[in-house]
Amino acid sequence: SKKITIALAGNPNSGKTTAFNAITGARQHVGNYPGITVDKKEGTAVVDGQTVHVIDLPGTYSLSAYTMEEVVARNVIADERPDMVVDVLNAGALERNLYLAVQLMEMGAPLTLALNMMDEAKKQGMRIDVQKLQSLLGIPVVETVARVGEGMDNLMRTAVEHAREKAGKPWEPLIISYGSDLDPVLDEMVALISKEQFLTDRYPARWVALKYLENDEEMLRIGKPFGAVATELETRAREVSEHLEATLKTYPEAVIADYRYGYISSLLRQGVVSRLNDLENRL
Ligand code: GDP
Ligand code: MG
Repeated sequence: SKKITIALAGNPNSGKTTAFNAITGARQHVGNYPGITVDKKEGTAVVDGQTVHVIDLPGTYSLSAYTMEEVVARNVIADERPDMVVDVLNAGALERNLYLAVQLMEMGAPLTLALNMMDEAKKQGMRIDVQKLQSLLGIPVVETVARVGEGMDNLMRTAVEHAREKAGKPWEPLIISYGSDLDPVLDEMVALISKEQFLTDRYPARWVALKYLENDEEMLRIGKPFGAVATELETRAREVSEHLEATLKTYPEAVIADYRYGYISSLLRQGVVSRLNDLENRL
């Protein structure tokens, strides 16, 4: 059967490289991305008789364009269209780590979550309802302890199986509400972006609109050569930015980040995480 490509994403220090090594063993090589100093680590694994090409993406907290690592991570996902992205999370810092996961979902990438460092999370008295998290997000979640290889086979089988389910289907981006200040503008921008097919071969329309609102340098750079549509989007974004500044003393990036964190915390409040201490206190 056709070779499957899996990209490993995750915050720095989530155990991504440890997971990559456990998955690929000695079957790996390190190159670099053309023109920049970010390492490109790739390897192969065999899962259920299926050869899997594994890419270790640079560690990132977000998918903005503030660092070269973030630009590389999202460009690899947009250009190479991996069959599955496995996001390696530090389970002990679930809320913060889900910030990247949510953005990967907004990009539309097919996603499997590895809840890594479960040993540490358990030591801290943290209990995670994996089934609940899985059903709330609508994607597979697998517990791992990469340092000792625990859960890695399950993770890879799950990721490959999920990739097979998703094969040949269009990516389905997660849509989050950004509130009454941004949602109407986003809808208008999305309508324009979709009508003109502006960068939609690479990104979901709403993702492009969000990047324009965030004043994302990389997206603006890519959009520039397209002329009138890019100018129109920049103008709309500037108007929104000025309006938010004047009325609420804030700016779109801050509002967007707030709503993303709000989405995550309301998700986790639905009984995903409990602490042994909490339970003890209640008894
Ligand atoms: P990366 O920055 O995401 O590539 O993280 P690394 O793979 O370099 O791991 C960061 C540190 O966490 C290293 O010291 C690893 O040995 C450790 N580590 C990785 N996975 C686990 C795990 O599941 N449990 C624990 N306790 N430590 C881990
Ligand atoms: Mg690493």
